[in-house]
Amino acid sequence: MEFVKGDWRIGASCRSEDPEQLFVRGAEQRKAKIICLGCPVRTECLAEALDNRIEFGVWGGMTERERRALLRRRPDIDSWQELLDTARREHADLEECQVS
Ligand code: SF4
Repeated sequence: MEFVKGDWRIGASCRSEDPEQLFVRGAEQRKAKIICLGCPVRTECLAEALDNRIEFGVWGGMTERERRALLRRRPDIDSWQELLDTARREHADLEECQVS
């Protein structure tokens, strides 16, 4: 599924969910992440949160605490969107090679 940059929310698995489910605190966030499993726009969602330093809620299957830890580990990343897009493309290429 391809999305034009900026309209990724159209494909969000959580679109029909109560938004309050994703903006919970503490251990409840671990449960909230389940909604993100299999979401077709998980990469875009995570990149949006990381690039914009969004601090609250579950985004892209990561809790705010997990995102903070990731940002601390990788202060060198200027564009998470670019990094995650590249990783996804490389993964798709690898899968294609394994099939053919
Ligand atoms: S990754 Fe999770 S929070 Fe982000 S759009 Fe998908 S379901 Fe919603």
